[in-house]
Amino acid sequence: MKKVKRRAMSVLAIILCLMIGVSVFTYRFFSQGSQWVNFTANKHIYSNGVLIGGAIYDRDGNPLVHTVDGVRKYSDNESVRCATMHIVGDKKSNIATSLQKVYADELMGYNTINGTYSVSGTGNSVYTTLDADICAAAYEQLKGKKGTICIYNYKTGEVICLVSTPTYDPENPPVISADDDNYDGVYINRALSSRFTPGSVYKLVTAAAAIDNIDDIFEQTFTCHKTEVINGQKIICSGTHYEENFEKSLNNSCNIAFGNISRQLGWNTTAEYAQKLGITTAHELSGIPVVKGSIATSGGDNELSWTGIGQNTDLVNPFAMMRVVGIIANHGMCVEPYLVEKVTNSSGFRTQLPPNKTEKRYLSQSTADTLSDMMRSNVRNKYGESNYPAGMEFCAKTGTAELDGSQVSHSWFVGFSRNEKYPYAFVSFVQNGGSGAKVAGVAVTRVMTAVKEKVDSQSTAN
Ligand SMILES: [Zn+2]
Repeated sequence: MKKVKRRAMSVLAIILCLMIGVSVFTYRFFSQGSQWVNFTANKHIYSNGVLIGGAIYDRDGNPLVHTVDGVRKYSDNESVRCATMHIVGDKKSNIATSLQKVYADELMGYNTINGTYSVSGTGNSVYTTLDADICAAAYEQLKGKKGTICIYNYKTGEVICLVSTPTYDPENPPVISADDDNYDGVYINRALSSRFTPGSVYKLVTAAAAIDNIDDIFEQTFTCHKTEVINGQKIICSGTHYEENFEKSLNNSCNIAFGNISRQLGWNTTAEYAQKLGITTAHELSGIPVVKGSIATSGGDNELSWTGIGQNTDLVNPFAMMRVVGIIANHGMCVEPYLVEKVTNSSGFRTQLPPNKTEKRYLSQSTADTLSDMMRSNVRNKYGESNYPAGMEFCAKTGTAELDGSQVSHSWFVGFSRNEKYPYAFVSFVQNGGSGAKVAGVAVTRVMTAVKEKVDSQSTAN
């Protein structure tokens, strides 16, 4: 009898172990199944570490990457290949934020029920909002520099251009040595994964806070004699601007005036607006993570002044800065920028829900429109209307961010076309590029001219 009992207990123990094993497997199958399939040694999906299934297209249906007769092929145009390498991904999966990496499941057509089943065995298609021609135009402007140009439609949220340099042709990858400065940070998408000292483009955030929180800001007069001593430390301006009102102080990008404004705002309001306008928020672009910026939140009056000027320890992500000018352009509402329009299977059916287009108010309409007028005034009264595409009603802000030691300043230029026939907001950034207007400004103006020509030619064709 004892023997029978012992045997029964053993059988029960075995059954119990089996049940635990099956449960663990089932849990892992559902939670990690896609990772097993995604494993780069899986020869059904990867060839020498290269994803072989799925295609990525631009907004006009031009292939950015696809598989033809079993061979992975990028765009026929070299400039397009270089321009879109960070978004599409290279052949070795070096770009962590690329669509081939982030959308690997969708491209393979993986789901838990069917595995990597797809009728033709070619995987799925990811349709982006990118315009390959505009991306190529941006790449031509950034070639040989380190930087980024991003443009999105502030009415619809569609990102039409997102280019980061240095880059390379994914069909002909170069041999990159570790100490080659020309390829420094080549696998990083500077628009999404980097943060830089913003300099004067950040004055837009400070100006928004001032309009909302300083009652008599438009009656105040600031006096700039190039330097001012605050708590024994100097605030230095790029020029000597004498007496100026709030609007003129933005035209002049006067550090003395914006230092004064920052001190009137105080640390709490400065931090509140950095948060409110999404500078210190971690955004996502169609599932691709975007790094968040950081703005100093304590210190003396000198540090507070430099913080509102966009210096001190301020670090801002270019994509987040583009979002800020998009909010100003769209009367205080943000239509979240997005990149992936749809994913379809080989039969052309949508496999993913349409993008969740969210629209939310970040600034009151009157604050946004006042800022928009001030940015328009920058162009008309300071930068020179004739330097920008006629008819776009350019609104802009320059930034020449000073860096420690002998480093050349970062060049920034942000803004938008106020003519809603061309509803595009942009950020242009050149690392150690020097003057904001002359480098980043000139580069993005040429790209926006291409955008205008494309919109005009399409409206004529229709
Ligand atoms: Zn000044």
